[in-house]
Amino acid sequence: MSSIPLPLKGACRCGRVEIEVSKAPICTAACHCPGCQKMSSSAYSLTAMVPADGFAVTQGETVVGGAHGEQLHHQFCDHCKTWMFTRVAGVDWFVNVRPTMLEDATWFRPFMETYTRTKMPFAATGAVRSFDEFPEMEDLEPLLHEYLAWAEAGET
Ligand SMILES: [Zn+2]
Ligand SMILES: [Zn+2]
Repeated sequence: MSSIPLPLKGACRCGRVEIEVSKAPICTAACHCPGCQKMSSSAYSLTAMVPADGFAVTQGETVVGGAHGEQLHHQFCDHCKTWMFTRVAGVDWFVNVRPTMLEDATWFRPFMETYTRTKMPFAATGAVRSFDEFPEMEDLEPLLHEYLAWAEAGET
């Protein structure tokens, strides 16, 4: 993934919270689920799954927002209320970073899309793998291998 200009710096809408991504994502995705549509105020959310040790909040701090669920810890800037990233309880080895926070997101393409059952009819993401809902956990590992091959093949 040498085409991703690491490290990537990012910030929320108001700039009070800054983040840095220092490792290439292990997968990228778009999600059409109703929760993502509400939180992103748009047709779908975008996710770069970044290894936890390749992600840092470098200025300010986030607060939990969104669903306030047991499992999904959606992290927001407390001032501008931007949804910046999500940590999943029990899955602490990666962080779901919203790539639109990054200064340079031109490298980003979603490999897979999830929850196409609630996709807005016009919405197209360019993803090469589509799922009605979320893929099963046991399907995740082969998907990550597929992603790597796809991402490397896409480097120009
Ligand atoms: Zn902010
Ligand atoms: Zn979603």
